[in-house]
Amino acid sequence: MCTVGGPMADVNMKKLKTKKYKCLKCGNDFKGLGKKVICPSCQSDNVEEV
Ligand SMILES: [Zn+2]
Repeated sequence: MCTVGGPMADVNMKKLKTKKYKCLKCGNDFKGLGKKVICPSCQSDNVEEV
């Protein structure tokens, strides 16, 4: 038997809930989604949800 077990994260693909974030490094405002959000401008993960 070939079992590909494990919880696949297909919940992500249903609804894309974007949230607004602000980069604390360069001050860029952007929308992001997911748990790991990085600034599209400077690629910093030092962001804050607004
Ligand atoms: Zn930034």
